[in-house]
Amino acid sequence: MQPSSINLRLWLTYSLIILLVLFFALAGIVFAFQSSPLLYRQVFLRMDLVSHLLTNRLSFVIAADWDPTIDLFFKEAELLDVEVAIIDNKGASVFLSDGYLESELPPMTTLAQDAENSQEHILTFRDEEKIIWFYKISKINDNYYLLVAAERPNVAIGSLFQDELVKPMLKTGLFALIGAFVVSWLMAEWITRPLKRLSQSANNIAEGKYEPIPIEGPREVQQLARSMNDMSGKVENSLKSQRDFVANVSHEFKTPLTSIQGFSQAIFDETVHKPADIKHAAEVILKETDRLNILVNDLLTLAKLDAGTMAMNKEKIEINHLIKSLIEDFRFEIEKSGVRIKGVYTKPLYLFADSTRLSQVFLNLIDNAIKFSKSGSQILITISREGNYACVGVKDQGAGISEEELERIFERFYQVDKARKGGSDHGVGLGLAIARQIVVAHGGEISATSQLGEGSTFMVKLPIEDATQNQ
Ligand code: ADP
Repeated sequence: MQPSSINLRLWLTYSLIILLVLFFALAGIVFAFQSSPLLYRQVFLRMDLVSHLLTNRLSFVIAADWDPTIDLFFKEAELLDVEVAIIDNKGASVFLSDGYLESELPPMTTLAQDAENSQEHILTFRDEEKIIWFYKISKINDNYYLLVAAERPNVAIGSLFQDELVKPMLKTGLFALIGAFVVSWLMAEWITRPLKRLSQSANNIAEGKYEPIPIEGPREVQQLARSMNDMSGKVENSLKSQRDFVANVSHEFKTPLTSIQGFSQAIFDETVHKPADIKHAAEVILKETDRLNILVNDLLTLAKLDAGTMAMNKEKIEINHLIKSLIEDFRFEIEKSGVRIKGVYTKPLYLFADSTRLSQVFLNLIDNAIKFSKSGSQILITISREGNYACVGVKDQGAGISEEELERIFERFYQVDKARKGGSDHGVGLGLAIARQIVVAHGGEISATSQLGEGSTFMVKLPIEDATQNQ
């Protein structure tokens, strides 16, 4: 089972750390004690004493040829519970206080060598019965060595530790665990308080209260609060634009529907009965139905572009050619509006694109340019290459758009000045939104620059099909 709260997790973590530390501390102390000379100080002292006394005396005794009184010296060693041996420099034992020593000790020559080489004061060896011996070799003269040995006493480390260490450590451990519980509770509170606040704010957002979350607490929580503020801002904006969208759609439907309803009611009630009036009413109904049709088609196009389900018939097209034929198609409308249109072309640039959809984009831009231009002014269409992009600019000398409004003209249903609609055949503010979605679906981008009273320039950048072939 997973520990469910931060509090419990912290407590378990602390407890584990405390237990591990106690375990390692105990193991370290046992290990250090086991090999510590402190435990065997008594034995070493006795060995040192015997070794010191005998080495001095033996040098005289051996010099004066072997003397049986030597046994007296060894009695002293026996009293101190230390075994003694005299070894000649060929490794043969001359005297042994205990015959057992010779069979169990390493060869005497090795011992003598040990004594020469080793820096250690007291050495150890383990005999066949696994008993550990301490021994010390000292030189009597050039021909003889004295070996002093004593069994390592058995110190009951287990019970020593149980009495002296384990109990106090368990007590300390218990206190530490209680401390860990308190500290983990405080820590958990400290950590979870800002998280609880975040969770409360998330609940508020879910209930539709978009209050900004205060940026406080640990850095990670501050980061989370910032991200949540960002997110709630986006959700709020998206909900607002959704509401605006529905309101706009309803509004745009309402006007033509009211006209259609009014005129058809008038025909039905025979309020209009003259053939000319009936014809006029029918004309209005037709026009408004057309308008509704266009609106519904635009909305469907946008919905498909949003969902990414718009079928794109992409093929290799040449952009200069596409623009030239669009201008040709617009010739009549252009002449009617009294503006001049000029195209500045470049060498062939091929795109992989849906020509119908791209035509819709450029038609919208040219249509807007005509709508917002005064008679006699010029519309300049330029095609150029920028890196791996083909750039098409549509520049007019019309009314222009202010800086604040420029940021919004690609929004759905946004119209700079609803009253200033260009001509009777005005749109509903979806043209640029659709244009942007189409351009984005082609991997390109659309932007606008403008100067109030001087005109606007719309720039469409589209990726060139195979950049290397188009060099
Ligand atoms: P509409 O159907 O109203 O033309 P668009 O999405 O095409 O909708 O354009 C949005 C708004 O941007 C227009 O209502 C207009 O106010 C502004 N606009 C677009 N093109 C131009 C232009 N060339 N000059 C001035 N204003 C423009």
